[in-house]
Amino acid sequence: MPPNEQTPLIQTVLISPPRPRYTHSTIRRFCTIALGTTLVVIVILFLIPGRWLPGNRSESEWAPLRHPWSSWPERAQFSYDDLRKVLLDTPNEEKARQWSQYYTAGPHLAGKNLSQAIWTREKWQEFGVQSSIVDYDIYINYPVGHRLALLEKKSKSKTESAEEEQEDVIGMMKYKVKYECSLEEDVLDEDPTSGLDNRIPTFHGYSASGNATAQYVYVNFGTYEDYEDLVRANISLKGNIALVKYGKIFRGLKVKRAQELGMVGVVIYTDPQEDGEMTEENGYKTYPNGPARNPSSVQRGSTQFLSVAPGDPTTPGYPSKPGVPRQDPHHSIPSIPSLPISYKDALPLLKALNGHGPKASDFNKYWQGGGLGYKGVQYNIGPSPSGLVLNLVNEQEYITTPLWNVIGIINGTLQDEVIVLGNHRDAWIAGGAGDPNSGSACLNEVIRSFGEALKQGWKPLRTIVFASWDGEEYGLIGSTEWVEEYIPWLSKSAVAYLNLDAGTRGPNFDAAASPLLNKALYEATSLIQSPNQTIPGQTVRDLWDGHIRTMGSGSDFTAFQDFAGIPSLDMGFASGPDSPVYHYHSNYDSFAWMDKFGDVGWHYHVAITKVWAVLAAALVETPIIALNATDYATGLDTYLHSVKKLSTTAFPSVADSPILDSLESAIARLYNASITFDAKAADLADIINSGVPWWRWWRKAQLYYQVRQVNDRYKYLERNFLHKEGLDGRSWFKHVVFAPGLWTGYAGATFPGLVEAVDRKDREGVERWSKIIEKNIDDATESLK
Ligand SMILES: [Zn+2]
Repeated sequence: MPPNEQTPLIQTVLISPPRPRYTHSTIRRFCTIALGTTLVVIVILFLIPGRWLPGNRSESEWAPLRHPWSSWPERAQFSYDDLRKVLLDTPNEEKARQWSQYYTAGPHLAGKNLSQAIWTREKWQEFGVQSSIVDYDIYINYPVGHRLALLEKKSKSKTESAEEEQEDVIGMMKYKVKYECSLEEDVLDEDPTSGLDNRIPTFHGYSASGNATAQYVYVNFGTYEDYEDLVRANISLKGNIALVKYGKIFRGLKVKRAQELGMVGVVIYTDPQEDGEMTEENGYKTYPNGPARNPSSVQRGSTQFLSVAPGDPTTPGYPSKPGVPRQDPHHSIPSIPSLPISYKDALPLLKALNGHGPKASDFNKYWQGGGLGYKGVQYNIGPSPSGLVLNLVNEQEYITTPLWNVIGIINGTLQDEVIVLGNHRDAWIAGGAGDPNSGSACLNEVIRSFGEALKQGWKPLRTIVFASWDGEEYGLIGSTEWVEEYIPWLSKSAVAYLNLDAGTRGPNFDAAASPLLNKALYEATSLIQSPNQTIPGQTVRDLWDGHIRTMGSGSDFTAFQDFAGIPSLDMGFASGPDSPVYHYHSNYDSFAWMDKFGDVGWHYHVAITKVWAVLAAALVETPIIALNATDYATGLDTYLHSVKKLSTTAFPSVADSPILDSLESAIARLYNASITFDAKAADLADIINSGVPWWRWWRKAQLYYQVRQVNDRYKYLERNFLHKEGLDGRSWFKHVVFAPGLWTGYAGATFPGLVEAVDRKDREGVERWSKIIEKNIDDATESLK
């Protein structure tokens, strides 16, 4: 019947069972499943490192895919314990002394030490570490000439009488030379490098050439507050020369403020007030006959405005490669001349101020305590009378010239987790046995030790980079340019930077660090025996009060910590108030001084070498990176309290405002997240340490990814504190927690943006910076979740 309107739309039609589309369909299906499964199994097996399986330790070309610490710690041919043993057994006093003797035998000023760079590279290669020289073209000054003289205007009657008097004509004026500063350090028979023909003159790095004749004023330490005190006391500064003591703050900032106040030159001298108990006044003989300061010693040094920007002042923020555009450097170097002098040369200048102007002792507590009272100095402020002037001549040659970093590398299984160890090589003088070459001697010993471990079959988990920086002294140039060049790679890979500048100057352990590294430092120092064994068995940690300073500036960690957000540490054995006076940046920071006074027996060199090596090993080898987030949160809380305290006096309306309260809760959130995160990391470490049997390979794979995730979070935690735009007025500094104090330079300022806004009494700035910091802290908290 044909369909009509009654025909149902859906009808059941009977059909025969479907015919297979292909013949042998069952076999086909079986084959598809079998092949698919095989493929999956192959892929999985391919990802499972062969080394997990017992008896199979062959090298695989897929090394990065292996569970890198599957055999750590107990099953490896060369365990973590073996490594630590090599690092503790290898360094020795004789070698440290030998390296020190090499570096301190002749001048090695920045950009003038190529032979030492080549020697260093060759030594490291001999130790088994692949090394190369990385150079930059930097803008720098070298001394040409200088003069400092105390002049007295000639009265007519005198001109006729005294024929033998030394006379000076400056402009239209005739002067009698009352005192010509030697500007030289004494040549000592006991200290051979003090008498080298090619010894380096006394001068300041990045100081301006100039010839100034003017009255002068004693400005104490030349801190911002000291100058403020003088302005308040109506002391005339403009047009005069500042006579200032070394100490308290970075020397360049003494010059910066003098320049801002219209002064025309700066003379900086070392007052024995800085020498603690070890003074001639207290009956100690002076070097080389005793531990007190040699009166002719002069502290050279850079007058760069370190807290504005370190590195080559003509290339802020980018590497000084040949041909790059260059900026005017004067945003971060002075335009008035300055000279460093000894207290022997300062005495006649200070005494000539006796009776002129108010006395320092009439000022506040920061002005008390000059150390030359016993020599007849009354510490009058001046200005010197109009007939009594200083003639300051500073002649510098400015050139653009290469400098040389030596970079060594030990590739680890993980190439995106990198620990950098660095020390600078350049010094202001022929010697530099303390600063920096005690550190250089130790760096060689650290590398020799790691090289020994490599020879014995050690395969590092993470990658280690060693750096011998050039140009630190002028303004952290070598390290800053290197970080600026490699910032993309460092941001991705760097776990920590460990700096050793003057590794040994005395017996007192001292350290500054990002709080992430506190725990690792306490552990490393607890493992090393102190050279002081008055109580047998005591460790470096036992003799150290445990105080870890905050990161400021003044050495090569600055670009790592403050520009790149890489957790950094700086340490060394420093001199104390009752140890022989360390002649900082003077000819007497020499091998002879170190051998006889600084580190008799060279044991402190070896101790700091071991601390450095063992600390690096912990960061390189432990499966979970040895950083601690909780310490960071605790640190932030402490810093915030100091901001609150500061506000209470400086800017009371801010001290208990809701702005700081919301910062406090952000820190509390970070603290909670950190505790949870550190605990999770510790659990993972426990699982790894107790071992997962090979047949639970899927658990191992899972563990591997968990560990990688935890380590990435540790690695990037500090990066969250970078603020792209940088600090107000000094945009090179990107870290919102750490920066050198704007007016201290060396000492660390915490929450610098916020603190400076409080100091300026800038309500808007306080609010803006609180919000920026809060956002950074919240990002850090988020990153741990
Ligand atoms: Zn140094």
